[in-house]
Amino acid sequence: MGEFEIPTEQWAQVVEKSGGPVSYKKIPVQKPGPDEVLVNVKYSGVCHTDLHAMMGDWPLETKLPLVGGHEGAGVVVAKGELVTDLELGDHAGIKWLNGSCLACSFCMQADEPLCPKALLSGYTVDGTFQQYAVAKAAHVARIPKDCDLEAVAPVLCAGITVYKGLKESGVRPGQYVAIVGAGGGLGSMAIQYARAMGLNVVAIDGGEEKGKSCKDLGASAYVDYTTSVGDDFVRDVRAASGPDGLGPHAVLLLAVAEKPFQQATQYVRSRGSVVCIGLPAGAKLSAPVFDTVVRMLTIKGSYVGNRQDTQEALDFYNRGLIRVPCKTVGMSELQNVYQLMREGKIVGRYVVDTSK
Ligand SMILES: [Zn+2]
Ligand SMILES: [Zn+2]
Repeated sequence: MGEFEIPTEQWAQVVEKSGGPVSYKKIPVQKPGPDEVLVNVKYSGVCHTDLHAMMGDWPLETKLPLVGGHEGAGVVVAKGELVTDLELGDHAGIKWLNGSCLACSFCMQADEPLCPKALLSGYTVDGTFQQYAVAKAAHVARIPKDCDLEAVAPVLCAGITVYKGLKESGVRPGQYVAIVGAGGGLGSMAIQYARAMGLNVVAIDGGEEKGKSCKDLGASAYVDYTTSVGDDFVRDVRAASGPDGLGPHAVLLLAVAEKPFQQATQYVRSRGSVVCIGLPAGAKLSAPVFDTVVRMLTIKGSYVGNRQDTQEALDFYNRGLIRVPCKTVGMSELQNVYQLMREGKIVGRYVVDTSK
């Protein structure tokens, strides 16, 4: 022990008031509680949720001042006295679910993201846009030592989230899944997880460039909603979803606009499921009750994964099945990343390096 020298102060990006911006400054390093670890965060992915947390535009209050971030990959440098299954020097990931009570009926059934006492990294507790972050030991992702901390960071939210959604959809190997918003950061990972799970992917997004990247990642078909509209769109998605033309077995909605959420029940296969993951601000979901009943459709939401989903998602990554297209910048440039995000100019995922 004592092999890590822990400073008393560190660099962090702090949201002082809702609406932002973030300020890059030195703040004290926290000490881990008895059931917690202190992780020296090396890299942290930047997620759309972080922008919402800064803006304070979700119907759930953040702590203030707030250090955002929930895709932090790093090294365990200190731990509380109750932590027995993690050693100093282990690689660990801090994800959205920072901690939960482990005793409620949700936690007991591995639905810990639904825990009423859940702690959320970069939202209700300080997250990973700092050099040293605290998390409950039970919930940190166990990252294998041979895994690149920079490249794996986005798996900790984006990867786990899309993998969980695919599991929740109930699709089986050989079946078809339509991924809406397939050309974005979440989408590119969803395509790869779906392929690795033995599914056929119908990618849906707008523009030729996105179509090319979806095909490169293994989508069997691409439907461009900017050129295929109305009834044509429904027909095209179904035609792309296997020889019987009856539609995909599941639809994964990663889009950040409301319209795709309204369309999905029109083309999903009877008995199929529509899984909502993306969170367009203020969006509502509506579907014809008649179709939902006589076609036996399932419409559901999927949130983040539990501890087991986390380890499975990391395992797919570690076996070389998932590549994450990302761009790394210094943590001091976080505000610029938010600006690009707002302008919708981000292709793939941004990762910040906490050392600069
Ligand atoms: Zn996220
Ligand atoms: Zn609980």
